[in-house]
Amino acid sequence: MARRNESGDGRHCVFCGRSEDEVPLLLQGMDSAICSDCVKLCYDYVHNLETKQAPRHGEISRLLKPKEIHAYLDQYVIGQDNAKKLLSVAVYNHYKRINHNLAQEEKDDLDIEKSNILMVGPTGTGKTLMAKTIAKLLEVPFTIVDATVLTEAGYVGEDVESILTRLLQEADYDVALAERGIVFIDEIDKIARKSDNPSITRDVSGEGVQQAMLKLLEGNVVNVPPKGGRKHPEQEFIQVNTQNILFICGGAFEGIERRIAQRLNTQVIGFGTSGRRQVDKSNLLKYVSAQDLRAYGLIPEIIGRLPVITCLEQLDRKALLRILTEPKNAIMKQYEKMFEIDGMKLEVEPDVLDLIVDTAIENRLGARGLRSICERIMTDAMYEAPSSSDKTFRLTAEYAKARLADDMN
Ligand code: ADP
Repeated sequence: MARRNESGDGRHCVFCGRSEDEVPLLLQGMDSAICSDCVKLCYDYVHNLETKQAPRHGEISRLLKPKEIHAYLDQYVIGQDNAKKLLSVAVYNHYKRINHNLAQEEKDDLDIEKSNILMVGPTGTGKTLMAKTIAKLLEVPFTIVDATVLTEAGYVGEDVESILTRLLQEADYDVALAERGIVFIDEIDKIARKSDNPSITRDVSGEGVQQAMLKLLEGNVVNVPPKGGRKHPEQEFIQVNTQNILFICGGAFEGIERRIAQRLNTQVIGFGTSGRRQVDKSNLLKYVSAQDLRAYGLIPEIIGRLPVITCLEQLDRKALLRILTEPKNAIMKQYEKMFEIDGMKLEVEPDVLDLIVDTAIENRLGARGLRSICERIMTDAMYEAPSSSDKTFRLTAEYAKARLADDMN
């Protein structure tokens, strides 16, 4: 106790309380002192802490658990629970793998291979949204590419390497950052092999692209033209290692249900007593397998590089209603905000939401159509609002119907 009283007097160390005579060196501060032993102790402590916590280059510093990723997705994506679960685990494993492999770099330990993901589901069900949301959460560079623009090298269209150009641009040309990013390849089904007989004509946008894409998916060092395209032949290539880039592919695979049904009909599955499992005919997509994808026209090597396959369900009426109001950045919340900025409160009658959803279903637009329908309804009101002195705008079903009808004329 006595020591503590003495320590702030400038003649004792404020940390250990020892006097000038008891320590090798006492360093004087403004109105207190610290001894050289304590300085050394503190230095070692801080140094250890820093080296222990500092992420190795390319390491993800905070690894989110699958449940945390799922919970985050829930804030933005409605439904699609199975896909969310699979994706959360796959992403968690992917980044766990990166950290593990980095830690084992010098040691000759087990290298965990990566698992790219394939999402199969009708258009507008949230495939892109899910990939985008995950990239936002992880704060890694993310890019979306459309597989339909890609062609085999030397043909009109884009080379597959352009995919990495975009990722590099997203990462501000920080190669290490780009090397742990996420690439979402949309419409992968559109590069399915065009015919069963590949020898008739060269399939430059189908099988040719799949072959070219293989080297990205496998994990290779790829020469990437930093400005992309073939217009700058003078540019020097940047080497990008795709080993830790997570590829998420998405596609509608229209008509694949037929192949799934065929397979399920001819196959005797499992060890059940009846020999056949109960098939949910209303949602055949959930049984999609590598075999069906191969029959659809993906080459086996590509399928082998997409070991995680998940399917997204068609969104029903209830889901569309939820999409309008529930996600963190739901469309209706965005309109409310826009009116609020003009100093006006937007009140929406529940019937209006039903009308929007019914119109989207009628026009077979799914979730993708919700925004355009809302725009058609709201344009007039948003035109008037900034000049109006009203404090509230009440959106009624009658008003919405009239706007939609106006638009048709
Ligand atoms: P795709 O499956 O074709 O990639 P998107 O993810 O691009 O579809 O969806 C288009 C838009 O529809 C999204 O930007 C989002 O506004 C909405 N949407 C689609 N599915 C969902 C969902 N499950 N939850 C919330 N919004 C969705």
